[in-house]
Amino acid sequence: MKVLVLGAGVAGVAAAWYLWRDGHEVTVLERNAAVALETSFANGGQLSYSYVAPLASPSVIPKLPPWLMRRDSPLKFVPEWNAEQWRWIAQFLAACNRARADVTTQRLLRLAFYSRSLMHELLAQHALDFDYAQNGKLVVHTDASSFESARRLLAYQKSLGCEQEALDARGTVQVEPALASIEPRIAGAIYTPSEDVGDCFKFANELARLMAAGPNPVSFRFGVAVQRLLALGRRVIGVETNAGVFEADRYVLALGTSAAALARPLGMRIPVYPLKGYSLTLPIVDERAAPRVSVTDYQRKVVYARLGNELRVAGMADLAGRTATIDTARVGQLVDEVRATFPDASDFSRLQPWCGMRPATPRGTPVLGATPCSNLYLDAGHGALGFTLALGTGRVLADLVAGRRPAVPLEGLRLEG
Ligand SMILES: Cc1cc2nc3c(=O)[nH]c(=O)nc-3n(C[C@H](O)[C@H](O)[C@H](O)COP(=O)(O)OP(=O)(O)OC[C@H]3O[C@@H](n4cnc5c(N)ncnc54)[C@H](O)[C@@H]3O)c2cc1C
Repeated sequence: MKVLVLGAGVAGVAAAWYLWRDGHEVTVLERNAAVALETSFANGGQLSYSYVAPLASPSVIPKLPPWLMRRDSPLKFVPEWNAEQWRWIAQFLAACNRARADVTTQRLLRLAFYSRSLMHELLAQHALDFDYAQNGKLVVHTDASSFESARRLLAYQKSLGCEQEALDARGTVQVEPALASIEPRIAGAIYTPSEDVGDCFKFANELARLMAAGPNPVSFRFGVAVQRLLALGRRVIGVETNAGVFEADRYVLALGTSAAALARPLGMRIPVYPLKGYSLTLPIVDERAAPRVSVTDYQRKVVYARLGNELRVAGMADLAGRTATIDTARVGQLVDEVRATFPDASDFSRLQPWCGMRPATPRGTPVLGATPCSNLYLDAGHGALGFTLALGTGRVLADLVAGRRPAVPLEGLRLEG
């Protein structure tokens, strides 16, 4: 079959991978000059298979007022005259209850564990160079009550299949000696040995390299901006672009934050809104002062990953419109966080700042699969977990296109309404 994948972020590339392995004739359309240049470019690098709990949870509600009032808060909100933003917020608040958050966590965990097994299978078959490391993750709490809550959750997390242990400050520093300078501030940490890290941009490029080289290579059409999906009745018959009309038997929409706008003329409301985040990439200048284990500062919502000889630091969630422009004050905040946590690890004069727009859904689950158009499939809304989930969602998409039953249930992950 001829399959068009729209969008060459990590989600589109991973879907193309499994479609290509199924023997389809795959073309990927991408407006940029290469793969993974937008949200998949310099994200946190976490393959966060056990930490998938959505932002929408009851615990977030009491934190919202102080977060929204503080300038250095991990969350920022710039209200807009935009019904889409307010609809998203209303749906987000409606999802902030225990029952909904637990169901979402279970669905995301299933997809994440599936993605982990696919990643390990992929790496057993191919030598991919993307600074991948299996170093485990420490979620560090500097507040005693939040550590206690995390500790209480351990049994529940275990029942869902997560292998984790609670460590005191000493134990935390034993696992990650680079945290020694902040030991007095540490209330405790949850250690998950089975978490991985990698560079998402390099990962997508490695998959693209293999697909372009193999037999029946995938055709990557760069500089092609999708303008409109052309439908006749309940079928898509083509895609209008700046380079003419492209036709195929099946279409996969993997356009990150642009998915909603392109699907809307066909009567579909994909609940994706951009949640801006920031990252810093810093050269490591002192090996011992930089973490080997991936570290999350739970209170400040900042993640740290060592990618090769660089430190990747990411955080912030700004509901502030659609422009991916860097706010230097937000970058400054992130720099302050690194200086406070790993002061001697990096050369700050050579930091590379970046911002990206998470394609976020109110509940935190991606939107996958069938649409009212029989030959159009969604691979959207990966939010804060696109790198982690991309192989799982890509495989699900290929299964659906082939008429196979996906290995994970799609309940709650399909387009609603
Ligand atoms: C600061 C930050 C940190 C993050 N950290 C992590 C992390 O540690 N772990 C994790 O798992 N996830 C993380 N994420 C989330 C992850 O980066 C995203 O979920 C993921 O990149 C989304 O991939 P995507 O392919 O859906 O979107 P994108 O990467 O944005 O890809 C969509 C592609 O579609 C193309 N496109 C859009 N419109 C058109 C059009 N009209 N025509 C043609 N092409 C078009 C774009 O150019 C783009 O290449 C983070 C995100 C941010 C912002």
